[in-house]
Amino acid sequence: MNKDRKLIIAGNWKMNKTVAEALDLVRSLKLELANVKEVDIVVCPPFTALGEVSKSILDSNLRLGAQNLSEHNVGAFTGEIAAVMLKEFSVRYVILGHSERRQHQKESDALIAKKALAAHGAALKPIVCVGETLAERESGQMEKVLDTQLRGSLGGLTKEQMTETIVAYEPVWAIGTGQTATTAQAQAAHSFIRGLLARLFDDTVARRVRIQYGGSVKPSNARELMSQLDVDGALVGGASLESRSFADIIRNSI
Ligand code: PEP
Repeated sequence: MNKDRKLIIAGNWKMNKTVAEALDLVRSLKLELANVKEVDIVVCPPFTALGEVSKSILDSNLRLGAQNLSEHNVGAFTGEIAAVMLKEFSVRYVILGHSERRQHQKESDALIAKKALAAHGAALKPIVCVGETLAERESGQMEKVLDTQLRGSLGGLTKEQMTETIVAYEPVWAIGTGQTATTAQAQAAHSFIRGLLARLFDDTVARRVRIQYGGSVKPSNARELMSQLDVDGALVGGASLESRSFADIIRNSI
């Protein structure tokens, strides 16, 4: 595949895996993926497993991501985790604005924008999720929704910060449903996102930013999705919970 941007494939484990289960999974992934150099491979366990997983992947090509952080740096915010605390575990990436958090925790674009700045403040790379619901797509609102989400959550970043940010296009109707966007739908949305980044920042930034597709990615559809011009990786939920399927997605993407 001839793209300037290195593929980045991240597993979002969501609220799954005890520490023991997490360690089992990364042990298998390390074996399965030891020789892969073409892809940035990221695992995003729950907070409780970050410390042990971090130690376990020290000597490997796996990188660590978290699933959320606080927009604040320190203080009286019970239950929250600050970016510097993630850094202590050598976390490099953090998923922000996942549709599940937008839905259940009512996270707004403005909040996600603050979290993205907090991430960059600690040299963490945010993976900022955007995507339309089925109703929004069917009523022709996809571009408007993506425009609003991207302007609202990324508009405050500098060009340098944007270049170090990953965008995950995750159509809500495809997450955990088994219903994947067609390659044409994915490419169209990714191309729209890249065009908007060029308008919001500039062409150089837009050419450099990696845009992942997320929504029922599996070994059987990974190759076709990753071969699209503007698809630079995947954010994988369900299929990242089992080493064979996550490893096959990565192998099939190269
Ligand atoms: C996700 O939660 O980010 C996701 C894409 O989930 P799944 O792969 O299970 O659709």
